[in-house]
Amino acid sequence: MAGLYVHIPFCRRKCHYCNFFSVVTTKYRDAFFDSLLEEIFIRKNYLEGIPVRTIYLGGGTPSFVSPAIIDRILSSIRNYYQLTSDIEITLEANPDDVTISLMQQYRALGINRLSIGVQSFFDDDLQYLNRLHSAERGYQSIAEAKEAGFENISLDLIYGIPTLTNEKWEQNLEKAFSLGIPHISAYSLTVEPKTALDFLIRKKAIPGPQEEQSIEHFQIMQEKMKMHDFLHYEISNFCLEGFYSKHNSMYWTGEHYLGLGPSAHSYDGVSRQWNVGSLVQYIDQIARNDRFYQREELTTIQKFNEYVMVSLRTIWGCDLEKIRREFGVEFSAGSRQSAVPFIESGDMIEKDDVLYLTDKGKLFADGIAASLFVLMSNA
Ligand code: SF4
Repeated sequence: MAGLYVHIPFCRRKCHYCNFFSVVTTKYRDAFFDSLLEEIFIRKNYLEGIPVRTIYLGGGTPSFVSPAIIDRILSSIRNYYQLTSDIEITLEANPDDVTISLMQQYRALGINRLSIGVQSFFDDDLQYLNRLHSAERGYQSIAEAKEAGFENISLDLIYGIPTLTNEKWEQNLEKAFSLGIPHISAYSLTVEPKTALDFLIRKKAIPGPQEEQSIEHFQIMQEKMKMHDFLHYEISNFCLEGFYSKHNSMYWTGEHYLGLGPSAHSYDGVSRQWNVGSLVQYIDQIARNDRFYQREELTTIQKFNEYVMVSLRTIWGCDLEKIRREFGVEFSAGSRQSAVPFIESGDMIEKDDVLYLTDKGKLFADGIAASLFVLMSNA
């Protein structure tokens, strides 16, 4: 099975922490959608006929564009790709855009999952992040999406914001649970280079996030999620049983995916590709029939490292038998050996030939994974 990602790069305003490719102008909107439809056609053979089980309309702000345009995109995909009957189609929505009528129109187009960028239920946190919506709007958007008939709703939250005390973070989580949504993605605030947040912190105009605070928030979150029967199925993702994001799970389990639109990434089991991260170049290069993406063929070691990095972050763990099968016995033996200190320190466990991070280990997921693959890269 494969996944399709569609990047719609328009936002009403740039959030201070954001380093996704997006623009706040609507100048090239029509030309962009023509190019996107062209790319859908051009790349119709990329997945080599593997049925598409998930479509994810992300961005940017897909809910900022009209249902008529979303309809054109989905119709074109249906024309050129083979979709499974149980397809998951997710659309990212900002609370400001959500109305009952708009959500009903999305549902009529076949969209069956919403990811709503609430981030916090407190206005001062939203102001810190330079989000456009209010806390009240965040609430209302979920109620309206549910009233329109959406059940499979995911909420994005951000923790580690300097204005977000532990008590407020607990309240944010409690509010999310009280809304009866089945999926929560929660990310630690990170200061990406060249973002407005980076600039403001350097200028000492605002305080930056503190690591200890993020760690406390992560621990609070682990505890609260357990209390409410949410499975911690990936470092930043939690859900009630049966509500895994099928799309994101594809990335984490090594399935093939095609990314459409500027800056979108693709993977075909052999190589990674990434589209140009510029709207003007994307439109221009597609119009001139030029190559609009770069491609890198992955070595065995790169694939192995990536598998370790991604799998350790998930509930499914890092499967030594799979490593043995796909990469060779030296790789699995090396992984097991590198894992020993982490097993002894209580950061990891091994069960039935699979390595898993413990709750404690999840705090250091990236560092632990790096320790595994750095050693392996010397093999
Ligand atoms: S709405 Fe999303 S994509 Fe747009 S600027 Fe904010 S975080 Fe970035």
